[in-house]
Amino acid sequence: MIRTMPRWTQASVVDLVNRLESIHGSSIVLHEDPLDELVSCILSQNTTDRNSFPCYVRLRSKYPGWSGLLSLRPEELGQEISQAGMHTQKSRAILGALAKAQASFGKVTLEPLRNWTPEASSEWLGDLVGVGPKTVAIVQLFALGQPAYPVDTHVERVSRRLGLVPPKASLTAIQHRWQKLTPPSLAGRLHLGLIQHGRHVCKARGWTCEGCVLRPVCKEGRRSSASSN
Ligand code: SF4
Repeated sequence: MIRTMPRWTQASVVDLVNRLESIHGSSIVLHEDPLDELVSCILSQNTTDRNSFPCYVRLRSKYPGWSGLLSLRPEELGQEISQAGMHTQKSRAILGALAKAQASFGKVTLEPLRNWTPEASSEWLGDLVGVGPKTVAIVQLFALGQPAYPVDTHVERVSRRLGLVPPKASLTAIQHRWQKLTPPSLAGRLHLGLIQHGRHVCKARGWTCEGCVLRPVCKEGRRSSASSN
């Protein structure tokens, strides 16, 4: 028989972060420049770091400060980033973001967003063509130092197995649930812990709940525990 699940609360998220850090540690790497992070994220959409990172490094050294990219047509930038795939969409997204930054802030930078509220910077970034909620949240969390809750494949999988949301909940619902429950100061630590857990323990295939530090608070872990008794 499955024991009653504890209700997810702020206190249980704090406990979850501590459990995650007890095995995965707690280092957070912050990029210094939010525009670097945004361009890197756009390049990495739907591909591997192995394909996107060389494009990022090449662009970064050829066009330091990014403003030089604005002299390129989308097709020209597309050729530069073809290794990252979807180069037509990605070149338009990057050039659109640079042009909007120039128009909004007088130069090609996103630094002013640091002083905006999380809601306002989320809205500014979210209005960019080709930039979805995950990219917005990554830029906020890792470059602007603002609380945000990116949902990638690992965060999605672990969140569902934990029982944070109903089985068919959308990615947006998962993001909103973490946002509602997580103390803002823990947003980055929670995100990194969930990613590490999804990569190394709660994998997509061939995972085992036995010995997992989250088992006492996890819906799937408690289900598997009950069925093996
Ligand atoms: S108990 Fe199992 S399902 Fe839950 S987080 Fe751990 S490995 Fe994943």
